[in-house]
Amino acid sequence: MTALIERAVERATDTRAIVAGADVLSRVGPLVAELLPGRTAIVVADETTWAVAGEATTASLAAAGVALAEPYVLPGTPPPYAGYEAVEALRDHLAPLDVVVVLVGAGTLNDIAKLASGELERPYVCVATAPSMDGYAAFGASIAKDGYKQTMTCPAPIAVVADHRVLAAAPGRMTASGVGDLVEKLPGGADWILAEALGAEPLDADVWALVQEPLRAALADPEGIRDGDVAATVGLADGLVLSGLAMQAHQSSRPASGAGHQCSHLWEMEGLGVHDDPPLSHGLKVGLGTIMLTALYEEALRRDLGALDVDAAVDAFPEWAAIARSIRREGFSEQLLPAALAQSEAKHPSPETLLARLTILRDAWPTLSERLRAQLLPADEVERILATVGAVTHPSQIGLSPEAFRATYTRAMRIRSRYTLLDVLHEAGVLDECIDALFAPGGFWAERPFPAA
Ligand SMILES: [Zn+2]
Repeated sequence: MTALIERAVERATDTRAIVAGADVLSRVGPLVAELLPGRTAIVVADETTWAVAGEATTASLAAAGVALAEPYVLPGTPPPYAGYEAVEALRDHLAPLDVVVVLVGAGTLNDIAKLASGELERPYVCVATAPSMDGYAAFGASIAKDGYKQTMTCPAPIAVVADHRVLAAAPGRMTASGVGDLVEKLPGGADWILAEALGAEPLDADVWALVQEPLRAALADPEGIRDGDVAATVGLADGLVLSGLAMQAHQSSRPASGAGHQCSHLWEMEGLGVHDDPPLSHGLKVGLGTIMLTALYEEALRRDLGALDVDAAVDAFPEWAAIARSIRREGFSEQLLPAALAQSEAKHPSPETLLARLTILRDAWPTLSERLRAQLLPADEVERILATVGAVTHPSQIGLSPEAFRATYTRAMRIRSRYTLLDVLHEAGVLDECIDALFAPGGFWAERPFPAA
């Protein structure tokens, strides 16, 4: 365990051990015997993840003297879908058995096992098979119920085993997803800097360090990550685990999720790519959201907000009723509209709050803008990293129309009360002009046109 992971586990609320390193599957058994003495284990996997690490995990459990129930192995094709039906099926299978789950798998299986175990109030152990997202050590499960994906409350695993050799050999698309999920922590971190500076939400420096300190090194060798180089994948794998632990420590996704994530959540809630084969992953959407937000940061940083006319901006900021009217025209489904209205209203500032925030923004801009610059990578560098690992870098790759893509900037702001760059620019009255600039001649997205139909 690296020192940083050790520190993170100390602050985690549910997770008591992380075993990360090359060839660590043999440690699953001793770990379960130590943390869950006397319990019978059931290995849960699908055919694909079973082939990766099912036998080795089972052998390790048996060697450590852990009693084993018959494994629960789902079909590999089509891959399991993170729907509530799958959670219920596993939960009902587990309920009459006095067993704890040792899950062998990645995002979808982990979410299913996490929620099923949570509903039974049983701890579970996760053996990770791909560096594809940061949910391994996070609480909550992203599960589709009543027609849309939602984050359902449940504890994080009691232990995570991350074998770097297994993770480095994961399919490229899964690794690319993990890079997308991780790289968003750069503009996401900038969002948190802004939220703290403007008095919207305090920043926890220890939690911050867990996510941000190892981030740049983790993204430094995308070619190595793409090629399955174990050393290059260590930073990615550990970074994803650390993000999950940071969310536990903070009891919120703030440390690992900014406005780039909100773009992904919007697309996810609207079902983008859900019927693709395989379904469009969380991290691939988040990666594109990261490019979007990084490019928007660059546009904002081209402006001198130190010269902002604060009184004029406060006067010009719409009242809530006017914003609500705008939101109603933005094409949200009947299902999403109430949430968009409630989330936006929750962060709608009073004139006094707005005055205070924009005064800070103006006065602190010289130092704040420097901090933001230091936090970010250039948008074209983010794009290069994602392209190198084979992630999504352009909206046309995932079937977004030019109009839907552009509208995402504003609509992503509506669906979450979290305060981000989008809100700062909106409140300062410059969001629309910054978005316009991205799509105007010479702008970031104007230079990357949609292919002709
Ligand atoms: Zn994520």
